[in-house]
Amino acid sequence: MTRQMATGIAGTWQKIQSRWRAQIDDVLPWGSGRRSLWGALIALVLAVLVTLVWLAGRYEASQVQAELERDTADAVSDLRSSLSRHIQAVQALQANHLSAEAWPAEAQVLLRNHRDWLRLEWRAKDWRLLSAADSPLRAPAFERIGRAETLNEASQACQRARRVNGPAYSSTYFLPQADGLGMEVMELCLPVTQAGELVAYTVVTYSLQELLTERLGNTFGRRNELSFIEPDGTRLAIAGTQRKERRVFTTQQLVDLPGNTLLLRMDGRRGEPDLFPNVLTALVTGMSIALITVMVLLTKDARRRQKAERDLAEALAFRKAMEDSLVTGLRARDLKGNITYVNPAFCEMVGWDAEALMGQSTSMPYWPPEMVDEYQQRQAIRLAGNAPPREGFESVFMRKDGTRFPVLIIEAPLISVQGEQTGWMGAVIDISEQRRIEELSRASQERLQATARLATVGEMASLLSHELNQPLAAISSYANGSLNLLKDPQAATSNVDDVHMALRRIAEQAERAGRVINSVHDFVRRREQTREAVAPQTLLEAISPLVNLQARKLNVRVHTRIEPRLPFVWCDRTMVEQVLLNLARNGMQAMDLPECRDRVLVLQVKNAPSQPGNAWVEFAVTDIGAGIGADVQTQLFNPFFTTKAEGMGLGLSLCRTVVEQHGGHLTFGPHAPKGTVFRFTLPAASDAPAAT
Ligand code: ADP
Repeated sequence: MTRQMATGIAGTWQKIQSRWRAQIDDVLPWGSGRRSLWGALIALVLAVLVTLVWLAGRYEASQVQAELERDTADAVSDLRSSLSRHIQAVQALQANHLSAEAWPAEAQVLLRNHRDWLRLEWRAKDWRLLSAADSPLRAPAFERIGRAETLNEASQACQRARRVNGPAYSSTYFLPQADGLGMEVMELCLPVTQAGELVAYTVVTYSLQELLTERLGNTFGRRNELSFIEPDGTRLAIAGTQRKERRVFTTQQLVDLPGNTLLLRMDGRRGEPDLFPNVLTALVTGMSIALITVMVLLTKDARRRQKAERDLAEALAFRKAMEDSLVTGLRARDLKGNITYVNPAFCEMVGWDAEALMGQSTSMPYWPPEMVDEYQQRQAIRLAGNAPPREGFESVFMRKDGTRFPVLIIEAPLISVQGEQTGWMGAVIDISEQRRIEELSRASQERLQATARLATVGEMASLLSHELNQPLAAISSYANGSLNLLKDPQAATSNVDDVHMALRRIAEQAERAGRVINSVHDFVRRREQTREAVAPQTLLEAISPLVNLQARKLNVRVHTRIEPRLPFVWCDRTMVEQVLLNLARNGMQAMDLPECRDRVLVLQVKNAPSQPGNAWVEFAVTDIGAGIGADVQTQLFNPFFTTKAEGMGLGLSLCRTVVEQHGGHLTFGPHAPKGTVFRFTLPAASDAPAAT
């Protein structure tokens, strides 16, 4: 039985689990799809962010480059204007038509004002040196190598100047210096004309290094490195600062001069940190970090949500699986009485689909038509707010096929999360099987009791024959005596009184025999089980003929002690008589021992100690037999346990059932100095219920 139940429970649990899993899978289709979507989103966002940062970096670099190009263009323009001012200065010198003596002094002034000029020469048309002046600001440039050796460039420039009748520059060349170093120089030749006639040349020797430093160094050299370079990249002169930053932006621009073209290169070293080249990039990067953080937070949040969703789905699925696997019917109704929920067990019980039941309120399809009025009243009482008994109430439902079946309904208010009552929740249990089992056990109990009674009677049959022997023998002897008296016709008239007396005795004895038979008949006759108020004395009197029968046989004296003013007891008379008889018989049989001389059986009735308003009467049957051994005590009430050769072992088990059915208790204990007392209680009639 236990194993069957365990298997059943395990089966139900497995069913719940498999349904539960299936339902979770329905609710949450977990797959790689969702994860790869998230992966794609993250990859996209990262790609966008990297591109943005890269673009911002590039934009910044292009800005720097453009700025540098603007600077270079400005530098070239500054250089040009400086050079043209120089030409103007030289032209002004020429315009003074100075004498050879006065010229050097003027030239010195100019040289002092122009640091980048190394030397001024006044040469005649035929290239003869008329006058010359070296810069007073530095050592003479042509000290180490004589001027004659370097005139080639100057003469070419002058030829060109003459041709174009305007200023012309020579190509640059290296001029070694006395200190072992050297410098790149360039010549400017300006023709001197008088009345449109070329009369002489003024030659200015430029130091490229000084030109760069003087003219551009201050303005552009602070942030950049300036240099004149040759087309192959060789630097001719350098000015400006060389910063240590990593990234170098470079621009080159041609300085197109008549006769020569210089290449000006500007290297802008800009501090461009790899990650944050400027505010824009920093901003984009910052926003990207913020975006990624938000994404991470969102992902975490989404995870939490997914977990919560899953937990919820699991809880829901578990609840549903449980509801679906329940054998108890569940039914929820709203405050108007409409059915809002029924579980599969309820549908199975009544045979109607959930759809057919939902929303019904006035007359449920499972209400037997003959009970609709009563049920509607009950529903009205419920809807008025009266709670049903907590332990539930019994009712009768009707299946779809019309069969009625008993149910136990346990109903409770349905309270929402907000604590308000939203309706009624009912658990409905089909108790038809329980009823059937109860009926079966009641029937078998009755049969058992009848059998026990018959067994007692069988046992008493010998006693009965012994008891009947006496009246029958008396009847027989009275009858024989009467016959003898009537044999003599003369004496018949004188003997009529004797015959009369003998017949009366016969009648008495026959009546006595009849009473004995009736008492047994009364006992055996199966009566309806009804409870009534009975005086305890009546109960004892009812069993006394049968008890006395056995007492006489076993040589036992029966004492009856009844407390005065006892209340009536509320009981099933037949049953209680049987209990008393069984206990008395057991007591007498226990004393049926050779060593037990003075055999007394005491039948006692008294008020039991009871609480006010709850009166009980106690019956006690005391013998002075051998008592009950410890091994027997444990099995005393087991059906079919007996120590007697002809016993059935049903007496005490039945006695206890009967007493407990009446709400009382059957106990036993030793009696001093020897013997046993059996006690049982019965409710007093005043406290008994008014109906069965
Ligand atoms: P039965 O009388 O048919 O044996 P019971 O159920 O009435 O069945 O009694 C069971 C056993 O309890 C008896 O066999 C007997 O051993 C023991 N018993 C019952 N009443 C007494 C008693 N008053 N004194 C001693 N033993 C008793």
